[in-house]
Amino acid sequence: MSTLWLVATPIGNLGDLAPRALDVLGAVDLVCCEDTRRTGPLLRNAGIDTRLTVVNDHTERPQVRAVLDVLDGGGDVALVSDAGTPGISDPGERLVSAVLATEHTVSAVPGPSAAIMALTISGLPTARFVFEGFLPRKGRERTERLTAVAADTRTVVLYEAPHRIERTLDDLRAACGSDRSVVVTRELTKLHEEVRRGTLGTIDIGEPRGEYVIVLDGAPAANSPASDDDVRAALRVALDGGASSRDAVASVVSTTGRAKREVYDLAIDLQRDAS
Ligand code: SAM
Repeated sequence: MSTLWLVATPIGNLGDLAPRALDVLGAVDLVCCEDTRRTGPLLRNAGIDTRLTVVNDHTERPQVRAVLDVLDGGGDVALVSDAGTPGISDPGERLVSAVLATEHTVSAVPGPSAAIMALTISGLPTARFVFEGFLPRKGRERTERLTAVAADTRTVVLYEAPHRIERTLDDLRAACGSDRSVVVTRELTKLHEEVRRGTLGTIDIGEPRGEYVIVLDGAPAANSPASDDDVRAALRVALDGGASSRDAVASVVSTTGRAKREVYDLAIDLQRDAS
C-alpha cells in the first residue's frame, strides 16, 4: 500500500516550510505540482531532486492515471500547490478522491494556509466558521452566494485578488449592510503583511495590492438572546410605563428570553443609577 502525501508549502515566508515537508518531498518517487517554475526552485534550494510533474486545473484528470500507476508500482507521491495547502482553492480534491477509491492511503504534512492564518489573527469568532474561497465572479451565482454569505451566522473566510477586492467589499456591503465587522488581511507572512479591521461601511484598504483574505463576521443569530443594552432598554420602557420592578422583570424575562436572575440584577443596577 502506497501513500499520496498532501504537502503544505509557504504562503510567503520560506521559513514556514516544515522539516517534515522536506523529508517527505525528498523521500517520495514523484512530486505533483501546479507549476514547475515555482516548485522546482523550492526543491532545488533544499537539495531535493525528486521527479516533478504538473497537476493543475487543466491536467489533473489525465494525470490521475499516472499518479495511480506510481502508487500501484509501490512508490509514494507528494502533491504540492504553488502556495499553502493543496486542495484549498487549489488542485487536489480530484486526486485525493481517485486515490481513496483504491487501496492506497492519503496523508498530509499540514502547514500554512492563508485562510486559517487570516481567521485566527482576525479577532472574529473562530469556534464556527465557513470557508467560501473565491466568490463566483458574476451573475446569478455570485448574487446567490452573496445572499447566503450575508445570512450565515458563522464567521466567513473569503479569498480575493487585488483587482477585485474593492468590488467584492462593495458587494458584501450591499448584501450584509454597513455595520458588519470585517477584517481584510493582505500579504500574510510577507514583508508587507497588513491587517485592517473595521466595518463594511468604514473599512479602508488603501491601494489594492497583493493577495487578500477577507474575514467577515457572521450575521447576528435571529434567536440570539437580547444583549444587556436591549434588556436595560426594555426595563426602562416597562418601568417608565408604571410597572413595578417585579412586573417589569417578569415582562422583560418573557420577551427577551434572558435568565430571571440576570434581568433582576440589571433592573437593580438601573434603579441604583437612577436614584
Ligand atoms: N492553497 C492556498 C492556501 O492554502 O491558502 C490558497 C491558494 S489560492 C489559489 C490563492 C489565494 O489565497 C490568493 O488569491 C489569496 O486570496 C490567498 N492567499 C494566498 N497566500 C496569501 C497571503 N500570503 N496573504 C494573503 N492571502 C493569501
